Amino acid sequence: ASALRPLDASKLEVTKNTTPKPLSKPEDLVFGKEFTDHMLTIEWNKEEGWLNPKITPYQNLSLDPATCVFHYAFECFEGLKAYKDKSGKVRLFRPDKNMARLNKSSARIALPTFDSEALIELISKFVQLEAAKIPEQRGYSLYLRPTMIGTQKTLGVGPPGSALLYVIASPVGPYYPTGFKAVSLEATDYAVRAWPGGVGDKKLGANYAPCIVPQLEASSRGHQQNLWLFGEEQYVTEVGTMNMFAAIKDKKTGQKELVTAPLDGTILEGVTRDSVLALARERLIPEGWKISERKYTITELAEASKEGRLLEAFGAGTAAIVSPIRKIAWKDETIDCGLKATEESGEIALKMKNWIEAIQYGDEEHEWSYVS
Ligand code: PMP
Repeated sequence: ASALRPLDASKLEVTKNTTPKPLSKPEDLVFGKEFTDHMLTIEWNKEEGWLNPKITPYQNLSLDPATCVFHYAFECFEGLKAYKDKSGKVRLFRPDKNMARLNKSSARIALPTFDSEALIELISKFVQLEAAKIPEQRGYSLYLRPTMIGTQKTLGVGPPGSALLYVIASPVGPYYPTGFKAVSLEATDYAVRAWPGGVGDKKLGANYAPCIVPQLEASSRGHQQNLWLFGEEQYVTEVGTMNMFAAIKDKKTGQKELVTAPLDGTILEGVTRDSVLALARERLIPEGWKISERKYTITELAEASKEGRLLEAFGAGTAAIVSPIRKIAWKDETIDCGLKATEESGEIALKMKNWIEAIQYGDEEHEWSYVS
């Protein structure tokens, strides 16, 4: 196996698109609908390892109908964004985190792993080539979708002998173009997203398709997202495609606590979650906050809400950074998450958005921002 070629960014071959197409005006962009003119692709096979990386015009893939990705879901992916700063430089936000997560996901489904730094370098070159397609306005960015699929042509169930790693890019606008809009969640206990010993902490495509029917059900009752509960205790795990945070005041001591579920294998290890926690520890602890990664139940939230101790709640993820939560429907109850009728966000969610955006757009120099 030592003879297998590692992923080598210096071997990149670039074929430019000679017929680039115009994109919609930034304000008309719909998430994930339009793509830039190029894509990055790298093939792997078990005899040779990683072949030369290629940037080519964006194009269809051609795959045999027997290819294993179509039958046994050998697919994992990532989502991260490239931002343009005031001086026109393109910045990635904590790409090392996404690379590490992609490697964990791919290893779990017997797809190859790769050198994270090499892929960051390749993504860097890719976003530089697409720099003109990154809208400059605040809130806009280029959403990157690294994807890995098993490409072996076989119906035999086994480890893929070949794979394709590719990256496509979609210019996106702000999640909330007219400012925050607090969402309503439906606490879901009749369906389970992830379980101990499962793969809920990996970013596998196979984790997402089964969540759409519960999402439609929640939507039919007027809620934007599911809040996934787990177990008889009804632990709060995460929200749709975001990790969940709640700001609670202790019943006895009045201590303010920002709480999120621990990384116990049943929730995705969000990059935004990690960033919120790190910033909270750095900047909220001095203001008297307690920051906790611990299990908590929907009953705890309901009780805190009734007693006026649920200060705010928000989801955290790459798409929106933070998404304030107004209420959670749970059985016959509605848990009010602490916002006034006139408010769309709590104080912590707003602070987090501003702090994280300042780093993403390079207003604040920070080791999390990777200048490409
Ligand atoms: N949970 C799930 C299930 C997700 O799909 C996402 C989006 N990747 C997140 C949480 C948030 O993760 P991140 O902050 O890395 O975007």
